[in-house]
Amino acid sequence: MTAAETATSEENRPHRVVVIGSGFGGLFGTQALRRSPVEVTMVAKTTHHLFQPLLYQVATGILSQGEIAPPTREILSRQDNAKVLLGEVTAIDVDARTVTSQVLGRSTVTAYDSLIVAAGASQSYFGNDHFAEHAPGMKSIDDALELRGRIFGAFEMAELGASRGDDIDHLLTFVVVGAGPTGVEMAGQIAELAHRTLKRDFRAINTRQARVILVDAAEQVLPPFGEKLGAHTQRKLEQLGVEVRLGEMVTHVDERGITLTAKDGTSERVASVTKVWAAGVQASSLAQTLAEQTGADLDRAGRIAVNPDLTLPGHPEIYVVGDMIDLDHLPGVAQVAIQTAKYAAKSIDRRVRGKEPQGPFRYLDKGSMAIISRFRAVAVIGRFRFTGLVAWLLWLVIHLLYIAAFKSRVTALLHWIISFLGRGRSERTTTEQQIFGRAALARIEGGAAALVSAPGDYDANRVIEQLREELEARAREEARLTDARERGVHRE
Ligand SMILES: Cc1cc2nc3c(=O)[nH]c(=O)nc-3n(C[C@H](O)[C@H](O)[C@H](O)COP(=O)(O)OP(=O)(O)OC[C@H]3O[C@@H](n4cnc5c(N)ncnc54)[C@H](O)[C@@H]3O)c2cc1C
Repeated sequence: MTAAETATSEENRPHRVVVIGSGFGGLFGTQALRRSPVEVTMVAKTTHHLFQPLLYQVATGILSQGEIAPPTREILSRQDNAKVLLGEVTAIDVDARTVTSQVLGRSTVTAYDSLIVAAGASQSYFGNDHFAEHAPGMKSIDDALELRGRIFGAFEMAELGASRGDDIDHLLTFVVVGAGPTGVEMAGQIAELAHRTLKRDFRAINTRQARVILVDAAEQVLPPFGEKLGAHTQRKLEQLGVEVRLGEMVTHVDERGITLTAKDGTSERVASVTKVWAAGVQASSLAQTLAEQTGADLDRAGRIAVNPDLTLPGHPEIYVVGDMIDLDHLPGVAQVAIQTAKYAAKSIDRRVRGKEPQGPFRYLDKGSMAIISRFRAVAVIGRFRFTGLVAWLLWLVIHLLYIAAFKSRVTALLHWIISFLGRGRSERTTTEQQIFGRAALARIEGGAAALVSAPGDYDANRVIEQLREELEARAREEARLTDARERGVHRE
């Protein structure tokens, strides 16, 4: 192809938008481009869109993972201008305008004309990443399933221990670190499991004697909900039997316990096998990659400072949205991700159509809510504060509306009826692999990629030749056994 032909074909091809991430920002950004004359490639490291606000319900056996994590490919199957690529983005070259992604050692380079980065945030252990092994966070389906295994597993081990007369206090003590919405929801749900769901299922232990501790270095529960709702939530948690310990820092975590240090420097070791980390987030490291190349600033949580139109300095073609951005003190919530992603999509659409740019991004705060337990929640919507059943019903309606967009709505509703009206949990299945599999993988040098053949190593012809004869012989013998009616016939 001559240079002139290349230029012509490049001018004629549709504008290429790459979207990184399939969370709230990635999915809503892609969907908002459905009528645009662009070609969208979503690159994400999981094959699903994840509804993170309901992860705690997977961890505590209310919902199945499929109900909160529908396949992205299926959601976008009717959007002809969008395709999905599995891969973890490891590099962005802002000059070459390419994104490099990896999956099991295979590398893919995708070129873009516009880029939407919606890679979210991960758990932050405030520099103590080794805590993660014994206190999993709550950010992914893997996290939720591992926690489900640890929580239900602790009751099982306590039953075994009690039958033998062993000390079981460490097995029946659950510590949740972080008194934000996720920590409150987890603590409330574990307390409900102990006091309601499991109370008749065990013989040697009384699950109602389980200790659930919610700890935070701050002096209040749910700070973003204001003092009054924070105090209300703390009271309701205590009525449920949750010990709320504020002003205490976690200074050590190991397999059998956790050390809490108060402001006056006194420390207490709490014997506990099951710890949940719901404190602090750190923006995706892609924020740093972009900051290094564009000169944009990063804040303490690794979030990148964006221009008022969500682009990066000197790069009007790169938009960063959702949990990764540092703009106007916006919180890390789903609505920010959805609204920033829609704004970015609209800006790209306008540019491609040759229209004037829109004004700066404006956030519309639709409120926030947190569940304390069955029929109890708190909600802030504008000037209004709601508590109790009213807040809980608001939560139910909003989540039903969201989930209604996905196929899992019927089963999710059924599971909520079972859990909220009854006392059951439909999704209590756990496996040993879920509890220990990730820790084992982390110990393999090279991770999961070390367990599969390197690209190009697999010689299909050689494998086929080796196997063909053996498979044919096995099939002949199977057929002969049936035809000769020799199956089940015992011969001396
Ligand atoms: C347990 C929990 C409970 C929450 N509860 C609420 C709530 O009640 N209400 C509320 O409004 N908000 C809640 N949030 C916050 C809300 O979920 C986030 O603000 C929102 O998900 C942010 O959207 P995002 O698109 O920026 O990031 P995410 O939704 O986190 O999506 C990031 C995406 O990027 C992908 N990704 C990351 N790195 C890479 C990479 N290098 N390459 C490719 N893909 C990558 C991830 O796999 C994911 O698909 C909660 C969060 C958690 C963890």
